Amino acid sequence: MTPAEYRELATRFPAIAAAAIDYGFAVEIHGPCPLMGDDHSCAGYEHRARVCRMFPVTVTGHDGSDAVMAPSPSCPNAGTVTPRDIKEARRLNKEYNAEMARSWNEYRATHPDAEQMAVNFLASREPARSSACAPDASKTLASVIDRYFSNLAKRKGK
Ligand code: SF4
Repeated sequence: MTPAEYRELATRFPAIAAAAIDYGFAVEIHGPCPLMGDDHSCAGYEHRARVCRMFPVTVTGHDGSDAVMAPSPSCPNAGTVTPRDIKEARRLNKEYNAEMARSWNEYRATHPDAEQMAVNFLASREPARSSACAPDASKTLASVIDRYFSNLAKRKGK
């Protein structure tokens, strides 16, 4: 989630704050979502983040700098996804990427620990990419992370 998406949920649902890992420029929920009921209903449906609004459409890979979007094979309702759903998911993903890139730029301009936080974030989200850049000199590492976030902003979705 972006910080803005996180605030939207966390101010209403303290359980979200308890499950959150806050990187400053992005927030992750680890483990089962605390808003999901036993019947799989969502207690925060009206306020849910874009990644939840897109589902079951997910980013399944990348073609150059473009995200490839498709129904998640893990969802039993994946067969009901329409071209319109995919189009809406692309729009939401583009919005998410732009907001995340903005959030990163703001955070890195004001926080000396931004680079380390970005490494922690990438280690959790994209371990292969993180371990590939971890041994680099800090200047190179900063540019890898910068490129990662500026590429997010450019992704159009396919
Ligand atoms: S839609 Fe999102 S916020 Fe709601 S229960 Fe599912 S994962 Fe949690």
